[in-house]
Amino acid sequence: MIFNRQRNNKKVGKKMLCVKFKKLSVMFFLVICIFADGAVLAGCHASKVQGRQSSQKAVAAGQKKESADEKPNAKKIVMDLGEMISLPLKEEEELLSVSSNRKKVVQATENGNLYAMKQGEAKVKAEIAVDDEVYKRIYHVKVKKYGMVYPAFQMMKGEHLDLQFNGDGIEAVWISKNPKVVQVSKNGRAVAKKKGTAVLMAETDDGKIYRCKLKISRKIKDIIYLTFDDGPNRYSTPKVLDILKKNGVKATFFELKPAKSDFDLTKRILDEGHALALHGYQHKYDIVYQSQKIYRENLDKLRALFFKKFGVWCTVSRFPGGSSNTKSRYNPGIMTKLTKKVHGWGYHYFDWNVDSGDAGGARTAKDTFANFKRGLQKGRGNVVLMHDFNGNDKTIDALNKMIQYGKKMGYHFLPITASTNEVHHGVNN
Ligand SMILES: [Zn+2]
Repeated sequence: MIFNRQRNNKKVGKKMLCVKFKKLSVMFFLVICIFADGAVLAGCHASKVQGRQSSQKAVAAGQKKESADEKPNAKKIVMDLGEMISLPLKEEEELLSVSSNRKKVVQATENGNLYAMKQGEAKVKAEIAVDDEVYKRIYHVKVKKYGMVYPAFQMMKGEHLDLQFNGDGIEAVWISKNPKVVQVSKNGRAVAKKKGTAVLMAETDDGKIYRCKLKISRKIKDIIYLTFDDGPNRYSTPKVLDILKKNGVKATFFELKPAKSDFDLTKRILDEGHALALHGYQHKYDIVYQSQKIYRENLDKLRALFFKKFGVWCTVSRFPGGSSNTKSRYNPGIMTKLTKKVHGWGYHYFDWNVDSGDAGGARTAKDTFANFKRGLQKGRGNVVLMHDFNGNDKTIDALNKMIQYGKKMGYHFLPITASTNEVHHGVNN
């Protein structure tokens, strides 16, 4: 199997380095022994019969010895998000046990594999036997925010997910270890076949191995995806979030570039488990639809900003005005082109099939609620269009009632993810 191949060159290199380091530290230790009075150092315990001065020396020497024991054994490892490596051990070393102090960041398996699950740092402790001696070794593992966009992902039976990397031009060949649960094409389209868990593995051109752990839930048919466009907004976003929180419901926010002072609002959206999605760096129709290049930049710039600020790589988007907009007609055919291109640029796009009317016809919260109720249909994903702008009480005052009603009618409220079946309008330009 391709995935059993180890990166020998690196391993050998590390091994040699390690040997050199060990020799050096042994020499270092010996030098300290000589300076700090050999008698005290015999067992590295401060002898009770020594005077104060020499016992201080002994303590110092004891610390040195400890660090001499541990330092060559502390290792640094840097991993890409989603990457899998095996612990770099020497031939003669036998792994007895291994554990990670932050399993959400790095998972360690009994046989010594490490999985980078989330950006951050973790300590991996290993117990290693060489002949009759047992050592403890600590690996300081740093997981970069670059790598796979979805090292772990949850989706429903019947959905599919296009596996992506957030770095430039990384190409990988994928296989599924549980094809009955999830099938995957070589280039990374994963299709959820049945409930369960599945592991997908990929090898890149430069020999790195990535892993995606997928959890497949049963198919849910009656869904409401609450979506809020044009935020974040100091007036409306906190109110919307409070209502969602009170009801234990997750939603999706199609944001514009936040004002500098409003980044905390976007952060709260993420912290509370909602989906952050892209509406665009800006919303002006006469600019964003001037060309394919300009539209693409309008998404890329916002995605890069969110990645930089929050480490989140957004792939879900919504066209300003929706894909059916006619505001772009000053550039004939642009929507026809864009709707065909965005997937190739790494984006999904969502229109809506329920319009609350809060940016148009609805004048009161009663109107918004009535539009919502009228638009819902059982047996599908209902994508509800709402807005996140100043003074939007029409939506804020109706939202609680909408959620209560949806729950009563047996709908599930979910955030939009990269595997959600896209809802598209007919294109009018
Ligand atoms: Zn908008």
